[in-house]
Parts: sequence; C-alpha cells; structure tokens
Amino acid sequence: LLAADGSVAATIFAEMSALAQRTGAINLGQGFPDEDGPEEVLEAARRAISDGVNQYPPGRGQRVLLEAIAEHQNRFYGIRLDPEREVLVTAGATEAIAATILAYVRPGDEVLTLEPFYDSYAATIALAGGVHTTVPLRSPDFQPDLDELRDAVNERTRIILVNTPHNPTGAVLPRETLELIVELAHTHDALIVTDEVYEHLTFETPHLPIATLPGARERTISIGSAGKTFNTTGWKIGWVSASAEHITAILAVKQFLTYVNGAPFQPAVAVGLGLPDAFFTGIAATLAAKRDVLSAGLLRAGFTVSRPAGGYFVVADAAPLGFDDGAELCRALPGLVGVVAVPITAFVHAERRAGYSSLLRFAYCKKFDLLERAAVQLSGLS
Ligand code: PMP
Ligand code: GLN
Repeated sequence: LLAADGSVAATIFAEMSALAQRTGAINLGQGFPDEDGPEEVLEAARRAISDGVNQYPPGRGQRVLLEAIAEHQNRFYGIRLDPEREVLVTAGATEAIAATILAYVRPGDEVLTLEPFYDSYAATIALAGGVHTTVPLRSPDFQPDLDELRDAVNERTRIILVNTPHNPTGAVLPRETLELIVELAHTHDALIVTDEVYEHLTFETPHLPIATLPGARERTISIGSAGKTFNTTGWKIGWVSASAEHITAILAVKQFLTYVNGAPFQPAVAVGLGLPDAFFTGIAATLAAKRDVLSAGLLRAGFTVSRPAGGYFVVADAAPLGFDDGAELCRALPGLVGVVAVPITAFVHAERRAGYSSLLRFAYCKKFDLLERAAVQLSGLS
C-alpha cells in the first residue's frame, strides 16, 4: 500500500483521472458516469438536507433505507430479509468489502478471488494479513475454468469472493459456476462474499445473485451499492445483506471505520430502490447501447474487443495494433489520441502480468457523443 519512498501509492483510478485532467483527454479510465441519475433521487437528497437530516444516522442505517433494501431484494430476487437484523448500510461497497474482510480474515487465512480483480480486494486482504489466492479469467470470454476453481479452494480458504457482473472484464458468472462455488464453500467450510454492485447492469441475461442458490443463503454475504444504479458514485451509499450473525460481525468493524455515513443520501437511495421496473430495465438498455458504440469504435480502430455481458467496462487487446505493453500504451494514449484507459495489469498480481500485458480497460458509462468522439480519436492509432 505504501510506495518504496514511504508515500501512499495512488490507486490506478486516481492516477488515470489525474492524467485525463492534466492532458484534457477523454477519460474512459475511472468508472463513473458523466450524467446525473433520476431527478426523484436527487430531489429526495435535497429535501432531506432542507428537512434537517444532517446528523449521525443510526449505526445500521436509516430505517427507511434498510426497508427499501429488503424490499428491493425481495422484489427482484425473492430474497426475504429482516430489515432490522439482516441489512447494514455502509460507506459504499468499498467499506462493505473492507469491513467484511477485516471481520473474518485472520493472518494466514486465504481469500480466493477471480483474477483480474477489483483493486480494493487485494488491499483489504493485505490489511487483514490474509493470503490472496486467485482463479484466472482468460480472454476472450473471461470465465473461470471449473477445474481450476475446484483446485483453488482448500481448508485454508476463509472466503470465496465473487464479483458478478465483473470489474474489469464485464463477465457475468453463469449458474453452473455459482453452483460450484456454493458446493466448494460447503465442502471447505468457507464463506461466500459476493460483490454485486453492477446487479442492474446486465445486458444478455438477468442478474443471478448467488444468495438465491440452494444452500447458499446462510454462508453468503451480499454487497450492493447505489453508485452504479443511480449514477451517484460520489454519495458512497452501499450495503450488506446477510444473516443477523454476519451483519453483527461486520457492523462491529464498520462502527470503527466510519461509524455511520451519508445521512441525507440514505432516504434518497431508498426512493431510488423503489423506482418502477421500467427504470431498471431502461438503464441496462441504454448502457448496452453505449457498450455497442464504444466496442464498434475500438474494433474500427484495430483492437480486438471482448463482449461484456454486464457492468461499465470493455476489455480491448492492443496486440493487433502492435502494442504489447498496455501500461505503457495507457501512459502514451492521451498524447497519441486524447483518450485515457486503464491497463488490465493494474488488476492482477505482479507475477501474472504477462498473461494480460496488451489488454486495456475502457469505460463506456459515458454520454453517447463522448463515446462517438473517443471512437473517432482512437481510429488515429492505426
Ligand atoms: N466493487 C466493484 C466491482 C466496483 O467496480 C466498485 C467501484 N466501481 C466498487 C466495488 C466500489 O463501490 P462503491 O463506490 O460503492 O464503494
Ligand atoms: N470502481 C471504479 C472503477 O473501477 C473506480 C472506483 C475508484 O476510483 N476507487 O473504475
């Protein structure tokens, strides 16, 4: 976490956004939308501030949001939760991940993730003194090999950490893979932690929460976030749903990380979670169209392109254009064509970089005209 000179190493996202700002390049690096979400949600936050919802909320979160999270899980997935005991509001999914790992991982415990992985997984596993093991996702479909998955779980595995839809690859894990994870968690008495922040952003198949599979519920800790669904990544409202016992353990850590967070945003997110089905299908359809615009542009520019089934990002291989080092290309890209992307090597362990060196992650959670402009500029590469 600390650089060799003792300074804090910036995350790849902060580094790439700073590069975009410095150069004026189009920022397809850090994943955040460039438009506001639903007006009802924004208005509810303004109203809450005017109404004086500005002091510490209750430790587990405001009742109205706990109820909305429980209702949302029941409405979309048939998961019935007790809002008072089985739900916890957190400072984004990031805190939910950190509090969960710090609650359960002791030095030497293994946490298994897919690789590439979201950067905070590696950092929080390290903070807890855990051992980070991985199963590789390989181009072009980025699905784990089931035998490799079986081989990666053992009696030291404390947590199997799942992420579907997946950042950075856009892979959506099919039922068969999720079923195997449940089976392995039972066999080796591991917990399942599932990061589902892109749950409403799937394009081909509906989202399948692992907690809905037979035998999963009691050992599964599910993590969600308002950021991606309501275009409010800066509000940092996330949540955990799990058994009362797991919530109590995670709350014990959360109270010393942030104590509580986001008082006026909590009732606003509750409004969002209660929006009609058409809102949720609408955001996925729009984002799929954006994926298609950027993917077509990347193809025209000469990249080989993956087909993300969900989430914010498309993976493009620069090898056909003659670039083998994605990290170097990302540093040069603003100068070459005025676009910022993130190298996939930022999401893998150092010793595994070789398999991913020419791959770049591009965010398409941006306005159509910006994506069109990026596509035109990228064509200058070939
Ligand atoms: N998990 C994944 C897979 C993510 O992509 C992100 C952020 N984009 C997070 C967690 C963090 O979510 P939050 O902003 O709610 O902390
Ligand atoms: N999750 C976002 C991404 O993957 C960024 C979040 C962050 O900057 N920590 O781009």
